[in-house]
Amino acid sequence: KIGVIAKRSGFRAYLVGGIVRDIVMKRKNLDIDIIVEGDAIELVKKYAKENNYRYYYFEEFMTAQVTLPSGLKIDFATARKEIYEYPGAYPKVRKASIKEDLYRRDFTINTLAIEITEDNFGTLIDFFNGLRDIKDKVIRILHQLSFIEDPVRILRAVRFAGRFGFKIGKMTERLLKLAVDENLLLVAPTGRVNTELSYSFNEEKATEIIYLMNRYKILHQLIPEFVFDDKREEVINRLRDMIVTFEIFFGHKVDRVANYLLALMYHLPLDISYQFLERYHFSNGKQLFKLFFSVKGRFRKIPEKNSELYMIIKNIKKDVLVFLCSYLPAEISERIIYILKKEEERKLLITGNDLKELGLKPSPLFKEILDEIFLKYLDGEIKNRR
Ligand code: ATP
Repeated sequence: KIGVIAKRSGFRAYLVGGIVRDIVMKRKNLDIDIIVEGDAIELVKKYAKENNYRYYYFEEFMTAQVTLPSGLKIDFATARKEIYEYPGAYPKVRKASIKEDLYRRDFTINTLAIEITEDNFGTLIDFFNGLRDIKDKVIRILHQLSFIEDPVRILRAVRFAGRFGFKIGKMTERLLKLAVDENLLLVAPTGRVNTELSYSFNEEKATEIIYLMNRYKILHQLIPEFVFDDKREEVINRLRDMIVTFEIFFGHKVDRVANYLLALMYHLPLDISYQFLERYHFSNGKQLFKLFFSVKGRFRKIPEKNSELYMIIKNIKKDVLVFLCSYLPAEISERIIYILKKEEERKLLITGNDLKELGLKPSPLFKEILDEIFLKYLDGEIKNRR
């Protein structure tokens, strides 16, 4: 339908970006991006009006978005060139051909397009050997100045490499190292660095991406005094498993960004960490640091009894517990997980109703009785017969 209107208007339309890469790689992706050779806003107005769809557009950026009745959003942009006035700057845009539009992209694997214009619907377009690089599992930039033009691509390169398990091409790797040596990341807009790091820590392969960041000294560049040693590696690997544990057993949506930041930096002087977190706008991260350091001292001496350990962790937020369980000795974190599981089952143990059935009159004492029973249960002094 879009292709028919494009043809009629004398435009050409293409599906581009991550979705084409993911179709080729047989991965799920619901972000639909369409590039229009011609005028995306004009095309969207016709398309949306004919179908009675909601839409809006940004004249200045030559982009538009349509929302289908299902809620699915489709992004449109006029094919453009981007002109960067300094490394990392938000670029100026000019109309251009699809080839020029694809040339400004970050990596060859992201340059594939599928034409959807009516007379050429379904044709795969591959100007820059994206297909070959997907097959060879390699991340490659399109031209020598790519990282200089936009240093945020340094972060994107390791993110895609980690996510897909791809290598970074030889020349690309050389230029990436050079860009890191030149401290280019430090001139990138801090908001964009925040976005990329957040995406990375939310990736399923976050730990692999962190290893790549370490290998290319990216973290060392962003965080002065950063050290990555065996301890860091251990904590990060345990954190990865803890995130799964908390999400599956306790249905807790873990703040992965804040937790990975803490795992990477808890051993540094606090002012260094805070400086980084503030510069890159990680306010949740900073919050988690504060909470962690406010309870850290409680674990210097771990009590023998589970009921006493329970009293220590009782009021600690889940996200802090996620990190504590990655950082404390394994046998302690196993006990904490055990206690949290028991706490989940607590309602199955005994409730206020059970006390009523025993003929007791409801009173504030109920809570104390139930708490007491739970503590004894934790220490194995009471068994659950249900
Ligand atoms: P994801 O699967 O993470 O959404 P994506 O490839 O869709 O990956 P986006 O960040 O949504 O990535 O970007 C969409 C497209 O825009 C990418 O495929 C890429 O070609 C291009 N792009 C994004 N950021 C840059 C950049 N900094 N430099 C060049 N091209 C970029």
